[in-house]
Amino acid sequence: MIQKFKRKFIPAWLGILAVVAIFVWLAVFAKAQSNFLEVNFFDIGQGKAIFIESPDGNQILIDGGPDNSVLEKLSEKMPFFDRSIDILILTHSDSDHLNGLIEVLKRYEIGRIVQTDAKDPSAAFQIWQNLIKEKNIPVLFALGGQKIKIGEGFLIEILYPNRSLAQETLKNTNAGSIVARLIYGQNSFLFTGDSEEATESYLLGTGAKIDSDILDVSHHGSKNSSSQEFIDAISPEIAVIQTGVKNRYGHPHQEALDRLKEARIFRTDLCGDILILSDGGEYQIEASCP
Ligand SMILES: [Zn+2]
Repeated sequence: MIQKFKRKFIPAWLGILAVVAIFVWLAVFAKAQSNFLEVNFFDIGQGKAIFIESPDGNQILIDGGPDNSVLEKLSEKMPFFDRSIDILILTHSDSDHLNGLIEVLKRYEIGRIVQTDAKDPSAAFQIWQNLIKEKNIPVLFALGGQKIKIGEGFLIEILYPNRSLAQETLKNTNAGSIVARLIYGQNSFLFTGDSEEATESYLLGTGAKIDSDILDVSHHGSKNSSSQEFIDAISPEIAVIQTGVKNRYGHPHQEALDRLKEARIFRTDLCGDILILSDGGEYQIEASCP
């Protein structure tokens, strides 16, 4: 009887073992498939969402775009069994940056959230704050000078805001947007959220190190950002603009494009998803631009 019982279950056990083996193999493959830092500028419509993965598997999502489409983008980049993201960065609370992040927060295990301490009465922001509390996720309030070390040789430096925003009522939420610089070996990226000229002047005034290879162009290429002095100080080789096809704001504005003329410009409304791969020395771009 016992013998029979065992035999009956041998194939099932073998099956489970095989599945486990495939899982382990998939996990190893997923981690080993890239020796590059990957920075994905998702084509997310009129909004911003940037997914970063380091060679040792650390994952960061900066903003989540205007809706759920970020979930599909993430599932294209992450294996189905990977349900966690190390850091979510919310540059500011506008819906074209926040809304998608709410869905990510609901469905993924999040290690840490980086955002400013600015308040926002919007319903979406309340949902966001409640979810963070409910899930008990640690929050770091971004402040210039903070350095977030993520794995070997991979660092994010917060450049802005320069103060606590908790006591202020920002009429213009863009004015509180996080600006951060990612350094990976010899390569650097500047992420600007929707920051505008006042932030740019402040950063220029402090002499902050903003010189970067790749610029995530602020505010979808609005003319109120990307002042010539700021762009000159960054001197980017590559400028990436995340903006929606035929958006109602007319982004990117021609004035901003003119000021970026020294850089190679990549636009999500024209190229779709844009991927930059860096080995810490050289970088390459994968995009299908017309
Ligand atoms: Zn925006």
